[in-house]
Amino acid sequence: MKTDVIIIGGGSTGCGIARDLALRGIPHCLIEKGDFAAGATGACHGLLHSGARYVVNDPEMAAECMSENMILRKIGVKCVERTGGLFVRLPGDSKKFRDIFLKRCEEAGIATETLSRSRALDLVPNLNPFIEEAIKVPDCSIDPFRLCMLNITSSLKRGGTVLRHSKVVDIMREHGRCVGVKILDESTDEIREIRGRVVINAAGAWGNRIASLAGSGVPMTLSKGSLIVTNHRLTNMVINRLRPTSDGDIIVPNEAVCLAGTTSIPVGDPDEHTVTPVEVDVIATQARLMLPGFERTRLIRTYAGVRPLLQEDARDDRKISRGFRVIDHNNGMVSIMGGKLTTYRLMAEKVSDVVTEILGLKTVCRTAELPLEGQEELSGYPLSKRLKTLENVVCECELVTADDVERVAGKTGAGRIEDIQHRTRLGMGPCQGGFCTYRALGIMQEKGNMTPEESMRLLREFLERRFRGIKPALWGDQLREEQLVESIYLGILGMGRE
Ligand SMILES: Cc1cc2nc3c(=O)[nH]c(=O)nc-3n(C[C@H](O)[C@H](O)[C@H](O)COP(=O)(O)OP(=O)(O)OC[C@H]3O[C@@H](n4cnc5c(N)ncnc54)[C@H](O)[C@@H]3O)c2cc1C
Repeated sequence: MKTDVIIIGGGSTGCGIARDLALRGIPHCLIEKGDFAAGATGACHGLLHSGARYVVNDPEMAAECMSENMILRKIGVKCVERTGGLFVRLPGDSKKFRDIFLKRCEEAGIATETLSRSRALDLVPNLNPFIEEAIKVPDCSIDPFRLCMLNITSSLKRGGTVLRHSKVVDIMREHGRCVGVKILDESTDEIREIRGRVVINAAGAWGNRIASLAGSGVPMTLSKGSLIVTNHRLTNMVINRLRPTSDGDIIVPNEAVCLAGTTSIPVGDPDEHTVTPVEVDVIATQARLMLPGFERTRLIRTYAGVRPLLQEDARDDRKISRGFRVIDHNNGMVSIMGGKLTTYRLMAEKVSDVVTEILGLKTVCRTAELPLEGQEELSGYPLSKRLKTLENVVCECELVTADDVERVAGKTGAGRIEDIQHRTRLGMGPCQGGFCTYRALGIMQEKGNMTPEESMRLLREFLERRFRGIKPALWGDQLREEQLVESIYLGILGMGRE
C-alpha cells in the first residue's frame, strides 16, 4: 500500500492530524496499535483546560489552552460540555498565590470571576462549606473518545485509510530516508508494508521507541498519572484547588460520574499503568477537602496514563512545560511531542504545516473554522437529553440503547466490546459494565457479529480488565457491589465453572 503521509498513533494528536491532512486534501494513512484513544488520550481527566491551571508556571501554554478551548467549544458542541470551572481556596491556601493567579489569568486572556463562599456554594452545593473563596474560569469537560472518533470521521469521509489494532514494528529506510513502515496486523498476525513520503510520529509516550526505529530519538520525560472514578456526578462544574499544582487537585464531571486526579510519577516505561492504593488514598483524601461528599461516595474504578512530556532538566515533573514541540528529523520523519489534549488541534496544525512544506504543497489549515463532522449522530449534553430514547435501554447508567449497540457493531464490524464502549459510553457509568456488557455481547452475537464462543471469550477478557481497574478501590459499598456482580457472573451465568 502507498500513501503520502503515514501517521503513527491514534490518540488525540494522531486523529487531529488525520483530520487536518484530510481537510487539506493530502492522502494519508493512520496506524494505531489498539483502538483510538488507547494511550494517554483515553486515560486523561477529560478536562478542556481554560489554561488557568498552568497560568502561574507556564503562561504561554496557558494562553494556548484558552484560545484552543474557545475553538473546541465552537467546533465540537457535542463532545464538549460547557461546565465552567472553579478554583477553590481552602483555609491555609496562600493568598499571595491567588493574587499572582488572578494577575496572570488577566495577562493570558483567561476570564475570571471571584466568588464569595456563598455564591460558590450556590453554584456547587456539594463544595466544602468552609472554603475561603472561589474563582470562576472557563474550564469545560470533554469526551476524549468522541473527540478522536469525530476527527477520524473527516479523514474517512475524504478517503483517508485508518488501520486500528495494527502495530508499527519497523520503519523502512532507503538511503537514510524513511520510506514507509512495517505493521503487524493483530487480526491476521501478518506483517504488511505501507510506503509513504513522510512518516509522522504521533505515538505519545511511545514516541522515543518509534523514533529509534528510524535511527533517531526524541527527548522525552514520561510521567504517570492516576485517576479515580466516582459513582455520582458530585459537581456540575470542574473543581480545581487554588494552589501550586499538586496531587489530587482536579475533579471533572464526566456524564454520570466524576473523575478525580491526578498524581505525577516519573516512569521509564510507557506501558506502566499500575495504580497503587497509596495513589487512590492521596487523590480521595485531597478530593474530600474540596468536595466532602467524596467521603460517602463509592469509588468505582481507577486508571492511569503516561504523559509524554518534553524532556527538561526539572527535578519535579510537574514543573515541566505542558507545551509541545514539532521535530523534523530531516530523514522523512517528523515527531510531535508533549502538549495536551486541549491543544491537540493546534499541535495537528503545526505538524501538518511542516509536512506540507516537506511535500512542497501550499495549503491552509481549516480545522479551527469547520465543525467536527459526525456530531449529528450524538445526543450531546446534558445526559438527560438521552432520556427521550428510553426504548430498549441496554446500559441504564449511560442510557445506551440496543439500537446504539447495533449501529456501532455494524459500523466497526466489532469483534471487540471496547469498540462499543468507546463509541457509546456503554459500561462507563456507575456499574462499570457489570450489568450491561453481557447484554451488549448478546445483541452482537444475535446479529451475527460474533459466535457464542467468541462472545464468551470477550466477556471473560472484559471482566478481567474491569477487575484490574476496580481492585485498587475495593472497600465499603463498592466491595459489596462487586460481590453482587461476582455472583451474577460466577453464580447465575456459571462462568466460574470453566
Ligand atoms: C493522567 C492524565 C491526565 C491528563 N489529563 C488531561 C486533561 O484533563 N486535559 C488535557 O488537555 N490533557 C490531559 N492530559 C494530557 C493528554 O492526555 C495528553 O497530552 C494527550 O492525550 C496526548 O495525546 P497523544 O495522541 O499525543 O498521545 P496518546 O494518546 O498516548 O496516543 C499515542 C498513541 O500511539 C499508539 N502507539 C504507540 N506505539 C505504537 C505503534 N508501535 N504502532 C501503532 N500505534 C502506536 C498508542 O497506542 C496510542 O494510542 C492528561 C494525561 C494524563 C496521563
